[in-house]
Amino acid sequence: MSEMIQAENLTFRYTDFSHTTHLALDGVNLTIPYGQFAAILGRNGSGKSTFAKNCNAIALPSGGRVLVDGIDTMQPDRIWDIRRACSMVFQNPDNQIVATVVEEDVAFGLENMGVPPKEIRRRVNEALRMVGMYEYRMHAPHLLSGGQKQRVAIAGVLAMEPKCIVLDEPTAMLDPRGRADVMHVLHRLHEEKGITIVLITHHMDEAVQAQRVAVLASGHLILDGTPREIFVQTEKLHSLGLTAPQSVQLLEALNRQAHAGLETDALTVEECTDRLEAWLKGGRT
Ligand code: ADP
Ligand code: MG
Repeated sequence: MSEMIQAENLTFRYTDFSHTTHLALDGVNLTIPYGQFAAILGRNGSGKSTFAKNCNAIALPSGGRVLVDGIDTMQPDRIWDIRRACSMVFQNPDNQIVATVVEEDVAFGLENMGVPPKEIRRRVNEALRMVGMYEYRMHAPHLLSGGQKQRVAIAGVLAMEPKCIVLDEPTAMLDPRGRADVMHVLHRLHEEKGITIVLITHHMDEAVQAQRVAVLASGHLILDGTPREIFVQTEKLHSLGLTAPQSVQLLEALNRQAHAGLETDALTVEECTDRLEAWLKGGRT
């Protein structure tokens, strides 16, 4: 059986105007099964966006190969099948909005695909309900908040009924409320619709919520595991320009300064308070 995304020994080289080449991805093996919620981390320039573009045939491998929904992205006649299976959402919602009314914006891709009007109406309404923007369907997108705009952009790709959505730092330009709303929508799409989510993010608290975390550094896949496996490796993360969640950092500080002897793999505030409570009660777990 095929996987949702299968990158095999993926290499990607940019060539600039002076013909100098830059190796942005160097032998990446990364398989994302159907239905997974995966997060991709890495400092700026590590190759995250280049990987995302290879998941949707916006960029094609210089070496190795990428299969999306079982289709090799090097097959030019299958490009629309690939893009229908795996859609992308980018960082800046303003660059993704094309219409002057929310529901027209969400319908845009479907109209281009020649979907019948009745089916367009059904899909647009459903997509807007899924992202919690149905009441705004007649609004002007440019007057919405960043988080609302990003949810409209997600509705636009959702209306195409993709199996997978790759989001390249979708919350980077949003305030905390907008970020939380977008994350809520992504979890809903994953849980209720079984959509595979590949979330590229700089926010550790978002990565903690994923089922799997992959870390890129200088075009290499450096770490790959569950959030719990990844986020206890604080020194390694630090050397890669990343941080562990604050809950882990707090427990580590207590171990260092108060020799608390605490297990540090607390990924959420609740887990952290449980550890602290047990420690304060004298049970040095
Ligand atoms: P990230 O998304 O992790 O910040 P990118 O995938 O955008 O990283 O970039 C990876 C590397 O490729 C970086 O070193 C970047 O400078 C380089 N790069 C990205 N886009 C281009 C381009 N259009 N031309 C040349 N080099 C590029
Ligand atoms: Mg990027």
